[in-house]
Amino acid sequence: MHIGIAGAGLLGRLLAFELARAGHKVEVFDPASGAEPQAGSPARAAGWTAAGMLSPVAELERAGEEVFQLGLRSCALWPGIVAALAQPVALTMNGSLLLAHRSDAGSAQRLIGLLQAKAAIHIHPQLLSRAELAQLEPAVNGPALAWLLPNEGLINPIQAMQALAAQATALGVHWHWQSAVNDLGNGALTCAGQARPRRFDHVFDVRGVGAKPALPVRGVRGEIIWLHAPGVQLKRPLRLMHPRISGYLVPRPDDIIVVGASEIESEDRSPISLRSTVELLTAAHSVIPELAEARMVHSETNLRPALPDNMPRIVNQPGITRINGLYRHGWLIAPALVERALLPMAGPDSEPAQAVNAMTASEVLS
Ligand SMILES: Cc1cc2nc3c(=O)[nH]c(=O)nc-3n(C[C@H](O)[C@H](O)[C@H](O)COP(=O)(O)OP(=O)(O)OC[C@H]3O[C@@H](n4cnc5c(N)ncnc54)[C@H](O)[C@@H]3O)c2cc1C
Repeated sequence: MHIGIAGAGLLGRLLAFELARAGHKVEVFDPASGAEPQAGSPARAAGWTAAGMLSPVAELERAGEEVFQLGLRSCALWPGIVAALAQPVALTMNGSLLLAHRSDAGSAQRLIGLLQAKAAIHIHPQLLSRAELAQLEPAVNGPALAWLLPNEGLINPIQAMQALAAQATALGVHWHWQSAVNDLGNGALTCAGQARPRRFDHVFDVRGVGAKPALPVRGVRGEIIWLHAPGVQLKRPLRLMHPRISGYLVPRPDDIIVVGASEIESEDRSPISLRSTVELLTAAHSVIPELAEARMVHSETNLRPALPDNMPRIVNQPGITRINGLYRHGWLIAPALVERALLPMAGPDSEPAQAVNAMTASEVLS
């Protein structure tokens, strides 16, 4: 089939790669100026900014069974996807740590209880002794309480975005940069400034926050800070449980630690605020006091695409599929969502396309 994709963020690149390797002819349209991350561009894909945590259990604090199941499935799919990419992508499944200071033990226990109630028993958080924590993450010496979430992982989103685009290109995908799509319909999409629609056998709308007004999507502001911290070694993501501030630390290559993330109901993409900076860095410093001498080398603001109920959706209409609402767990759930979205195209012998979250546009809009 000849496929058009509007949006070259996380979903657009993953779809392009999967469709091209299934033998389809694919064209992708995006307002960005190219496949690489554009420094200073205020409206780039959220996929570039993400920490890349693959946290099916920790995300149960905010999410339900569906995101949990999509997350487990995606954690199983990511290694195969990464193995099929020519460029290296760091992907680890070493688990993650939930941390709390003694003074916050009450609220931490409530959260652990919530995760235990929602997650399958074999992946419950495991309380660690001081010695076990020191063995797993010697750099962490602030918090008194630590739990290991054994099945969680971490992907490097920048490497993955680049590698997916490169592999899709090698498979023949054609990219139309500086091409915003204004309208999509049955097998057609229309780019800004062009009077006539381009025709395809099927089109996908994966424009994230840019899918308004076709979908009732909103942007949820998130801010992150990159610290250069030579000598501070982390092997897995750390999350600090705190009654008011939720912060995490994620290791990246070249002695970088990403500290994130604020979550603010606003579509303001302006630079990080003083309040968020203070809160995120206070949380990070309380987990690893040695970060006091780290250097702040970069900060970034972006918008998570969310639907009104904060749930992901696959919306099927004749000749067009819209996928949106990946919110704060896009890297966690994208492979499973793409797998479900592509089921109808897999041919008559495939499993029925019974995506549990597939809805019509009118269902979503209502
Ligand atoms: C601070 C932060 C931290 C995060 N951390 C994590 C994490 O640790 N783990 C996790 O799982 N998820 C995380 N996420 C969430 C994740 O990044 C998103 O859920 C995911 O990127 C959404 O993917 P998407 O493809 O729907 O949208 P995007 O990645 O935003 O891509 C949308 C694309 O559509 C393009 N577009 C917009 N308008 C148009 C138009 N008119 N025509 C054509 N193209 C258009 C954009 O240019 C962009 O390339 C985080 C997000 C943020 C902001």
